[in-house]
Amino acid sequence: MEELLKIEGLKVHFPVKGGGVVYAVDGVNLTIFKGETLGLVGESGCGKSTLGKSILRLVEPTSGEIFFKSENIRSLGTKELQAKRKEMQMVFQDPFSSLNPRMRIEEIVGEPLDIHSLSRSGRRERVIELLESVGLGEDAMPRFPHQFSGGQRQRIGLARALAVEPEFIVADEPVSALDVSIQAQIVNLMKDLGETFSLTYLFIAHDLRVVEYISDRVAIMYLGKIVEIGLSKEIYSLPRHPYTKALFSSIPEPSPGAKGSKTLLKGDMPSPLMPPSGCSFHTRCPIAEPLCRKELPVLREIGEKHSVACHLA
Ligand code: SF4
Repeated sequence: MEELLKIEGLKVHFPVKGGGVVYAVDGVNLTIFKGETLGLVGESGCGKSTLGKSILRLVEPTSGEIFFKSENIRSLGTKELQAKRKEMQMVFQDPFSSLNPRMRIEEIVGEPLDIHSLSRSGRRERVIELLESVGLGEDAMPRFPHQFSGGQRQRIGLARALAVEPEFIVADEPVSALDVSIQAQIVNLMKDLGETFSLTYLFIAHDLRVVEYISDRVAIMYLGKIVEIGLSKEIYSLPRHPYTKALFSSIPEPSPGAKGSKTLLKGDMPSPLMPPSGCSFHTRCPIAEPLCRKELPVLREIGEKHSVACHLA
């Protein structure tokens, strides 16, 4: 498989007023292959959104490298980065706040065509084409974002992202703000768009069922680090990291009679201001040993395309 994105040792640390540092992303290595959907999951505050934004340099990394099609994104100047963003787009959680309320849909979807100095000829036709690709029509063009439902606004957000014909989309909790009944429509639309336009997605979400449905592979993040990554089918059927096991135990069973061993996740995630020493999960891990408090486990391969950061997995 062809590598599209490669991240090496990526760190995003935020200094805090009055002293201290938030270790939001703390040494992430990750490869995303062309055409795949990689799901990124973890509890709120684990750093998954910051990781997504830092890949596009919407948040500036503290250190580490990001290679997109072998080009080092971190070495690009402002103009070069803007040009590169034609190929890498972001879809946000709250479509309402990410769409300018004073702009008509025609401008919202058409604006990226201008920003990236693409041809203006046929701009209107291109906007209609984009709206149709996300299940909307020409009649949407003169209207404003508040005249649409949440699901329709996310469709508009997708049309805007697609305007510059990207290869890679970071979707940050794209369906979390939507009604459950609408979530499936948007996820299916994203799947279809992925196939039609040969897109590669980093799909960030906390809904584990949604991630399972859309992802080829899934990465689990805890306190700024990837603790397990592998094929979606394998990770969901046989998670190996104690955190993944506990996280997946919280997924409601498909049927009320379904059985399975439950591992409850005890306590809250520690503050990323003061991550625990050694394995940062040791304060909540049901099988932690003394070594876990001292030594940081590295992400190591335990099977085909399956890696885990745990001394005992
Ligand atoms: Fe638990 Fe130790 Fe594995 Fe961390 S390294 S997940 S504390 S067993």
